Amino acid sequence: MNYLSTRGHPDRKRFCEILLEGLAPDGGLYLPEHYPQVDTATLAKWRELPYAELAFEILSLYIDDIPPADLKAICARTYTAEVFGSDEIVPLRELEDGVYLEALSNGPTLAFKDMAMQLLGNLFEYELARRGAELNILGATSGDTGSAAEYAMRGKKGVRVFMTSPDGRMSPFQQAQMFSLQDQNIHNIAISGVFDDCQDIVKAVSNDLGFKRKYRIGTVNSINWARLLAQVVYYFAGYFQATASNDKPVSFTVPSGNFGNVCAGHVARMMGLPIQTLVVATNENDVLDEFFRTGIYRVRAAADTHETSSPSMDISKASNFERFVFDLVGRDAGRLRSLFVDDLGRQGRFDLSADPAFRQAAERFGFKSSRSTHADRLATIRDTDKRFATLVDPHTADGLKAAREHLAPGVPMVVLETALPIKFAATLVEALGHEPARPARFEGIEALPKRVVKLPADAEAVKAYIAQNCD
Ligand SMILES: *Cc1c(COP(=O)(O)O)cnc(C)c1O
Repeated sequence: MNYLSTRGHPDRKRFCEILLEGLAPDGGLYLPEHYPQVDTATLAKWRELPYAELAFEILSLYIDDIPPADLKAICARTYTAEVFGSDEIVPLRELEDGVYLEALSNGPTLAFKDMAMQLLGNLFEYELARRGAELNILGATSGDTGSAAEYAMRGKKGVRVFMTSPDGRMSPFQQAQMFSLQDQNIHNIAISGVFDDCQDIVKAVSNDLGFKRKYRIGTVNSINWARLLAQVVYYFAGYFQATASNDKPVSFTVPSGNFGNVCAGHVARMMGLPIQTLVVATNENDVLDEFFRTGIYRVRAAADTHETSSPSMDISKASNFERFVFDLVGRDAGRLRSLFVDDLGRQGRFDLSADPAFRQAAERFGFKSSRSTHADRLATIRDTDKRFATLVDPHTADGLKAAREHLAPGVPMVVLETALPIKFAATLVEALGHEPARPARFEGIEALPKRVVKLPADAEAVKAYIAQNCD
């Protein structure tokens, strides 16, 4: 399998070449040259497989530069009941007639990002050992991504993590999750500033090409193709649990921010998994909902990006969206460039409302969308507790609300649970008046010793810290 750039760069690459890279050299995102097709005989075979073996089968279609036995071993040690809490890995439960919750949040950091990041950690370690190379991952986090990356990379040979976060601005639980890690290859850097300062530092360091090369700086952000590919697997696993045979359609609702999670659903659907509808659920930061309703994609300024109670969906633009638009415009890289480089680059928006391609988003690709508010989240959390004795986190609540707006008779609707409620305890307390239960392994983590350095919001200070800690 070869990978191409959405912006038309002539190079073609193999999986392990793009594994450690971010954007393509022309600023585009990597996609496979085609989507492998899965027929009903294959689906029938896959239905019987445990999760790790299903992951191996799907990954094998996209990865042909790792020997199959090695890839199989990587999948087997990634998707275990010890790490993800059950043999099913992503157990499905019916909440009410036809509405299901797929549990993706029982990994080490209690958010769905573990599903992909745990695999990425093992793939990185494997590939770096094979090359005799090292990688220093530099990131910025306001919560979920940073902790998922640290728990995936802790103790991994050849990898160091330098994770910046805004000092004092994460929840006590999130801080404790990250700062209690004592692994020598994990470096927490609390920046005196806000999340944007952290992101600016990461950009400034990455733009210093000399430093970047000398210290082998890399990232693990959500545009990484391997992360997206890992997520394709749980759409298949969810489908198999929601149906008894492979001729039944299923719909999915996905709490969305950077469009990584739901883009994996799009890939699964393009492979032939019988997905009827993909519902994109947003909060007040409704860039994506606006696009699917109107055909206009308009990125928001920082000042127009709301801080909400589903903070992992607080985005001004959706960094993976370009992948879907590439398919939407018939994989025409020239057209894609004119939308993303000319229109979006110059005016901060593009408009497909009058383009026949826009209708295809719903008709051919099955996309629908909804938007929720803080009041909706509180109401959904209360309602789900009262009627089903189930606690959901605010992001999953956005999903549940959206799902109910797009139910179709006879078609199971699977809502992806993207985090456990304990990660967002303050909103649960606001909705219910009490804290959600906390998994035993996180009892008392706030009291553990913390491993973190404080630095000013200054890229030079962060560079000096990286240089000191790289031998
Ligand atoms: C990251 C995240 C999201 C958004 O996922 P995308 O892939 O960026 O669309 C939603 N909910 C939670 C809890 C997250 O951590």
